[in-house]
Amino acid sequence: MQEAVLHPLEQYLRSDRLPHTWCPGCGIGTVMQAFLRAVDELKIDSKKIAAISGIGCSGRIPLYLKFDGAHVLHGRAIPVALGIKLARPDLKVVVFGGDGDIVSIGGNHLIHAARRNADITVIMINNFIYGLTGGQVAPTTPKEVFTYTSPYNPDSKPFNVVQLVAASGATYVARWSTAYPVLLKESIKKALLHRGFSFIEVISQCPEIFGRLNEFKTPYDLLKKIKDVGRIRKDIGPFEAKYDWNSEITLGEFVNRDEPTYLDQLNQIREKAKGQGDKK
Ligand code: SF4
Repeated sequence: MQEAVLHPLEQYLRSDRLPHTWCPGCGIGTVMQAFLRAVDELKIDSKKIAAISGIGCSGRIPLYLKFDGAHVLHGRAIPVALGIKLARPDLKVVVFGGDGDIVSIGGNHLIHAARRNADITVIMINNFIYGLTGGQVAPTTPKEVFTYTSPYNPDSKPFNVVQLVAASGATYVARWSTAYPVLLKESIKKALLHRGFSFIEVISQCPEIFGRLNEFKTPYDLLKKIKDVGRIRKDIGPFEAKYDWNSEITLGEFVNRDEPTYLDQLNQIREKAKGQGDKK
């Protein structure tokens, strides 16, 4: 009898939930695989990871992973993740979400998590559009492209999320794309080991909605555009990182520094409070 061939990352997958629901050629699976390879290479105990997501195509990642986690309201993954981290500081808590979920509906949570240096990792998959909900304009949609709700192009310029998160105080900030899965994996390893708020944006292809609307005939054509517009730059700061559909979306690691984390700061306050209590 022929033996079943198992996926090399089978130990991390909920195989009973496969096949996944992502469209052929979608970039989300590449990001999930880069994450699992990072976990595998770092030999992190599966019981020490919590994977949290909101709503959207990217938000389905934790559903396929054999880690504890939560699938929560649209845009609310970050505060749930921080709550879990406060209750269980021994866990590595990772948020997965799309650009709509993380920087639009959840944008307020994003900047405050960065400001606090919250001890979590956020992996934001930016495919320039709301995918699951049907192709609406997102705050990351470039001015030059189309969505179903911006058929004459978006009315406003997009966020450069690297700059937004860096300006808010994040202590690890990087941007990669699905065209560079090995570099993405290495960056995820750094983010998982980082103390404090680590944020990785991944430029990714949504061939089914964004691709069709913008006349990329195949997933490969869209991935090629993403590869061609992505420029890896070393030793530049976040405010030199470009987000320009026509010329350059800068890729690389832009912030990596040590600062007291949110948990460190809470512990300091706890110690101060104890001291005051003793004086009374
Ligand atoms: S709609 Fe787009 S982002 Fe969602 S699974 Fe399909 S290709 Fe991927």
